[in-house]
Amino acid sequence: MVSKDYDEILIGSGSGKKVIEESLRRDPGKRVAVIEKDEQGGICLNRGCRPTKMLLSTADTVRVVEGASNFGIDASITGKDFPAVMERMRRNQEAARSEIQDNFFDRPNVDYYHGLVRFQGPRSIRVEGDVELAGERFFLCAGSEPMIPPIMGLEETPYLTSRGALNLKEMPESLAIIGGGYIAAEMGYFFSAIGTDVTIFGRNNQFIPGEEPEVSHVVQTRLGSHLDLNLGYEVIRAVELESGLIEVIAENGGSREEKVRQVERVIVATGRLPVNERMSPEKAGVELDERGWIKVDEQLRTTQDHIWAMGDCIGGYLFKHVADYEAEIVAQNAVYRNDKKPNYQAVPHAVFTEPEVSAVGLSEDEAVKRYGAEDVFIGFARFEDTVKGQAIGARGCFVKVIATGDGQILGAHIVGPHSSILIHELALAMAWNVNVDDLAAAIFVHPSLSKVVKKACDRVVLLKEYREELEDCLPGFKF
Ligand SMILES: Cc1cc2nc3c(=O)[nH]c(=O)nc-3n(C[C@H](O)[C@H](O)[C@H](O)COP(=O)(O)OP(=O)(O)OC[C@H]3O[C@@H](n4cnc5c(N)ncnc54)[C@H](O)[C@@H]3O)c2cc1C
Repeated sequence: MVSKDYDEILIGSGSGKKVIEESLRRDPGKRVAVIEKDEQGGICLNRGCRPTKMLLSTADTVRVVEGASNFGIDASITGKDFPAVMERMRRNQEAARSEIQDNFFDRPNVDYYHGLVRFQGPRSIRVEGDVELAGERFFLCAGSEPMIPPIMGLEETPYLTSRGALNLKEMPESLAIIGGGYIAAEMGYFFSAIGTDVTIFGRNNQFIPGEEPEVSHVVQTRLGSHLDLNLGYEVIRAVELESGLIEVIAENGGSREEKVRQVERVIVATGRLPVNERMSPEKAGVELDERGWIKVDEQLRTTQDHIWAMGDCIGGYLFKHVADYEAEIVAQNAVYRNDKKPNYQAVPHAVFTEPEVSAVGLSEDEAVKRYGAEDVFIGFARFEDTVKGQAIGARGCFVKVIATGDGQILGAHIVGPHSSILIHELALAMAWNVNVDDLAAAIFVHPSLSKVVKKACDRVVLLKEYREELEDCLPGFKF
C-alpha cells in the first residue's frame, strides 16, 4: 500500500495541468500529484481535437486537389495512403506527449499515478491498485465520455467511438456513423474524403442541430454530396453478420420507413456524458447536478471550499478552449487568490467539416426569445460577393451577424472556408462591446476574406427582410 500526502492533487491530466503549472510557478516547492486513468494529456490530445484536426487537414487537401481544375490546374489524386495519414497524426501526438512529459510530468515534485480515482473522504482518495493519497487541495478536471445510446444489438457488435476510429490501421471500405452532431460531421468529412463509403444516420431532421438551420443546410448539401446523409432517422438495431459486416437498421421518426445498410465499421457519435459519479464525489461532499455534472460556484469552486472543478466535467460548453479558459480562472482564484468569474458571453466554436462552420453567441431563435422579433436585426453577406470569396471560389457560403436595433452584436454564424479564423473578429467585438456600426466603419484589408464580415455589418436588416432575402439566395432552403 502506497500512502502519501500532497499539497495539491489534480484528477485528470488534460486542461487542469495549467492550474498546477501556475501553482508551481508561484511556489516551486509544492508537492503535487496528478492522476490519470487513461493516456496522459486528456481527450483533446489523445482522441479529440488534435488528432481529428490532423486528419481533417488531409480531407481539406483531398478536396483542394479535386477542385484544382476550377483554378486552371490539371491535378488528380493518384493514391490515398490511409496508414500514412494515420501515422502522420500519431507522430504529431507523440511529439506533443513527449513535450508534456518533459515540461510537466518530469518535474521533480510532480508525482504521476495511473488509475481510476475514487474519493474516500473530503481530503483523501484511492487510486486503482493500492494507492491512498491525501491532499490539502484538489482540482477536478475529469472530462466526459461518449454517450452510447441503447440500440438493440449494438453492444454485441464491435462498434467504435471516436477513440476507436482514430486507432484504425486500415481504411474501412464502408462506414455508418450514428449521430448527426459535430463529431459525426467531422468524421463523415474525413472518411468520405479519404475514400470510405460513408452513411450517416442523424435522429434530428437538422444536421449539426446546434447550428443555425441555414448554416446546417449548406453543410447538409455540400457534405451530403459526398456521403449518404440520412436525417430524421434513428438507428434502432445493429447486428454483426456472419460475413463480418455490421447491419445497421434505422427508422424514420415520421414515416417509420426503414433503411438498412451493411457496413464494415460503425462509429457511434451521439454526444457526451459526465463521468463524475465514478469519482465517488459524494464521499468528498462534492455535489453533482441532476445531469451528473459537477456543481460549481462563480469562482469554479465545488460545494467543498478546497475542491475546484473545470472543463467538461462541469458541463456547459464542452470545448477544449473553454476548459483552458476555466483552468485559467481556477488558477487565478485558487493560486493567486483573486476573484475571477468566467464570462461565457462570447464563446466561439467551430465545426471543421465541409464547409467549415463557426459561431459565437446567440442563435437567431435565442435572440428572438430574449429581445423579441422586432428588435432583432441581421447582417448578412455571401463570400461570393467579395473579391477574395470569388478568388477562392467559395460559393453558397456566408456570414450572418445577429444584432439589436442599437447595433449590439448578439451572435454570429459563419459557414465557409476559414470561418474558424473569421469568427474571432466577431467574438472579440462581442467581448469588447464593439457594435456592428463600429465594425462597418473599420478599415479591412482589401481583398481579404474578412471583408465578408465587414460587408455583413455594413447593412443590417429586420429579421423578416433577412428571411425573405435568404430564401432567394440559398436554393432549396425554406425557414
Ligand atoms: C472526437 C472529438 C473531437 C473534438 N474536437 C474538438 C475541437 O475541435 N475543439 C474543441 O474545442 N473541442 C473538441 N473536442 C472536445 C474536447 O476534447 C474537450 O472539450 C476537452 O478535451 C475537455 O478537456 P478537459 O480537460 O475538461 O477533459 P479531458 O481532456 O477529457 O481530460 C479528462 C481526463 O480525466 C481523466 N479521468 C476522468 N475521470 C477520472 C478518474 N476518476 N480518475 C482518473 N482519471 C480520470 C480522463 O481519463 C481524461 O484523460 C473534441 C472531442 C472529441 C471526442
